Amino acid sequence: MPRAEGHYTLAPNVHLTVLDSGKPGPTALIQAGIHGDEVAGVHALQELLEESFRPDHGRLLIVPVMNVPAYRVRQRKTDDGQDLNRSFPGDHHSKAREQRLAAVFMDLVRDESPALVATLHESKKRYDPNVNPSFGQTLVYGVRPMPPLVGQVVDQMNAELTDDSEHWATQHYPVATSSTEVIVDAFGCIGICVETWMGFDEPRRIRMQRRIVELLLEGLGVQNAR
Ligand SMILES: [Zn+2]
Repeated sequence: MPRAEGHYTLAPNVHLTVLDSGKPGPTALIQAGIHGDEVAGVHALQELLEESFRPDHGRLLIVPVMNVPAYRVRQRKTDDGQDLNRSFPGDHHSKAREQRLAAVFMDLVRDESPALVATLHESKKRYDPNVNPSFGQTLVYGVRPMPPLVGQVVDQMNAELTDDSEHWATQHYPVATSSTEVIVDAFGCIGICVETWMGFDEPRRIRMQRRIVELLLEGLGVQNAR
C-alpha cells in the first residue's frame, strides 16, 4: 500500500518525506547520500524540502540522506560498515545495518511502485570515455535499453551549460548489487544514477543536482515545466 503524505523513518534517523499532489500521476522516488562523501545531492534534496517543494501531479518521495552515519563523517561508508550501494537487495535479518536498510528500501519500492527511482551521487573523476570507470557529469543506467528520460535530461542539461566543462553524458554501467540495478531488475521502473563531478565547488554541484531533479520530475510528468 502506498503511504499517505507525511514523514516516515526507514531506519533510525533515515527520513522519508512523502508528498502527494492529490492528482493522478506517477510516483517518483529520489534519494541521496547513499555514499556519505557525495553531498551535493543531499543538500539539493534538503533545499527542496526546506522550500516546501510540491509535486504538480502524482507523488514524490524523498530520502535526502540514505547513509546517515557515513554522511556525518563524510565518507563513502563508515569505517566498520558496508558500502550501502553494494548491499542491495539487502537482508532484514542481517547484523549489518546497511543490509537491513537496503531490505527496507526494497520494501518501500515494492509498496510504492514508483515509475522512477533516482539516486544522487558524485564522483572524484570527470567522465572520460577512455577511462572506465569515470562518472563525473553523467547520468548512469544499469539495465539496457537506456530509458529515454536519461537522454532527454542529458540533452537539456547540455542545452543549458554555463560552460563546456559541465558537459553531461549518458553512461551504461551495471553494478550487480547497486540500488539502481537491483530495483530495476526486480520492479521494472526507470532507475537513474546522477553523478556530478566533485571538481566543481559545492554550490555549483548543488545547482546542477537540483536542475536534474527538476528535469527528471518534468520528464516523468510529476512536475509542470517551469
Ligand atoms: Zn556514489
